[in-house]
Amino acid sequence: ESNSNLIRATLFPGDGIGPEIAESVRQIFKVAEVPIEWEEHYVGTEIDPRTNSFLTWESLESVRRNKVGLKGPMATPIGKGHRSLNLTLRKELNLYANVRPCYSLPGYKTRYDDVNLITIRENTEGEYSGLEHQVSIFPYYLIENCLFLEIFKFIGIYYQVVRGVVESLKIITRQASLRVAEYAFHYAKTHGRERVSAIHKANIMQKTDGLFLKCCREVAEKYPEIKYEEVVIDNCCMMLVKNPALFDVLVMPNLYGDIISDLCAGLIGGLGLTPSCNIGEGGIALAEAVHGSAPDIAGKNLANPTALLLSSVSMLRHLELHDKAERIQDAILKTIAEGKYRTGDLGGTATTTEFTNAICDHL
Ligand code: NAD
Repeated sequence: ESNSNLIRATLFPGDGIGPEIAESVRQIFKVAEVPIEWEEHYVGTEIDPRTNSFLTWESLESVRRNKVGLKGPMATPIGKGHRSLNLTLRKELNLYANVRPCYSLPGYKTRYDDVNLITIRENTEGEYSGLEHQVSIFPYYLIENCLFLEIFKFIGIYYQVVRGVVESLKIITRQASLRVAEYAFHYAKTHGRERVSAIHKANIMQKTDGLFLKCCREVAEKYPEIKYEEVVIDNCCMMLVKNPALFDVLVMPNLYGDIISDLCAGLIGGLGLTPSCNIGEGGIALAEAVHGSAPDIAGKNLANPTALLLSSVSMLRHLELHDKAERIQDAILKTIAEGKYRTGDLGGTATTTEFTNAICDHL
């Protein structure tokens, strides 16, 4: 029976360790009395023709309706004729920004103890537009559907490519760049952040990254209270490993975001600790752990639920349930700092259940 005071959210426990770490979130939300009612959806065993993937249309509708969800790792079954699960979610829900908060966990020693930054990655275009091909000396695209083309293909001229050369198109649009820049500045403003850095290589990629920067500048003008700077990607990498405390919010095109966000995860201790949240059109937020389904430890009660838990904290912040978010995050960090119950990946011997119970005790 549903209670109207509860916020409905979609939960995809996912595969492998997914159900174990999702159970940990469920348990902790119950103890913390978070007013959320989960709508659970599992990845199907058959392809749904409406989505052309193992995710059903109903699952996607659930996220569209609730506008908020939490996702465990999903392993796409191997085989032809269907789309990967993560790609389906990204395309169908138009998840245009990937947001990763990245901060040092007190008590868990890494090389840095003062990381506190957010990476915001454009997630729909750039180098990942999927437009890669060989270079043809013959402009066959001009005469598509022509009899000659069929003949050329037959005798092999079609494949007369420039040997040893391939092409990949990087697409940058004003619309997608403004959208992600707007999200970054809005995030900075609503999360008490001071500065947004646009990461680019516009000195070389003058047109594409140039347009991206132009859009960031336009949006920056609407937020005079937020400092804005532009940092070239290579210099950004050097600064990040020398002194990550130099950064606050970083916004960037797809490929740079992919690389920099993993680099930042490494600064704080790895993918097992890093949460993320995907923002989609119409205010959808789908939070997810960054790691995969860890088949090597699945079903053994050994997984570290921290990344999914911190993702659920991101989700609570998105819902403006800030006190609940703060309480849960505190309990997680205290448990890790205490060091008594840590999972194997953090050098401890605790099971998922023991670690989760310890967090509940702190709550
Ligand atoms: P993985 O992240 O699943 O595992 C890499 C290593 O990290 C393993 O040794 C694993 O045991 C460990 N690990 C990961 N998460 C952990 C956790 N929470 N606690 C403790 N240890 C943890 O990466 P992989 O092995 O390359 O991928 C396995 C499957 O996951 C593949 O099918 C892949 O497609 C899928 N995957 C899904 C997502 C996603 O849904 N977003 C992301 C990455 C990989």
